Amino acid sequence: MSGQKDEAAEGPRFVDPELVALQGGRLQLKGGCCKSCGALSFPKGQVCTQCLSLEIDDKILSGEGELYSYSRVHMAPKGWDVPYTVGYVDLAEGIRIFAHIDESASPVQIGGRVWLGEGRVGTAPDGAILKSYLFATVAGGRT
Ligand SMILES: [Zn+2]
Repeated sequence: MSGQKDEAAEGPRFVDPELVALQGGRLQLKGGCCKSCGALSFPKGQVCTQCLSLEIDDKILSGEGELYSYSRVHMAPKGWDVPYTVGYVDLAEGIRIFAHIDESASPVQIGGRVWLGEGRVGTAPDGAILKSYLFATVAGGRT
């Protein structure tokens, strides 16, 4: 069989691995928190958009929120699965983030509760499955 290097090339991988962390087997979003004013950001910004401070701490975000708006995309660059849904989620902490929205388990609706999960979004040129963090309306929690 293949060695570890080959398995890594063929296995699923995140489009933006620096945006997520696994803690206790649960996917989490890695955001930022301004040391000066407490403003949150995702992705973690290098400069605070509220006070322009350059001191931003790491901040793990809740992964629970409310769907602010969404759109279905029917055309995409080569390798992306279509159609797919993207949207803005208002996290419980009070910030709005952009994310893939998973409608495979149940349809989404504006104002509905959504939870963080992960799922396939496409295929890399080397054949590896690409996955991303996403939000879904799965009742009771994360996937
Ligand atoms: Zn700030």
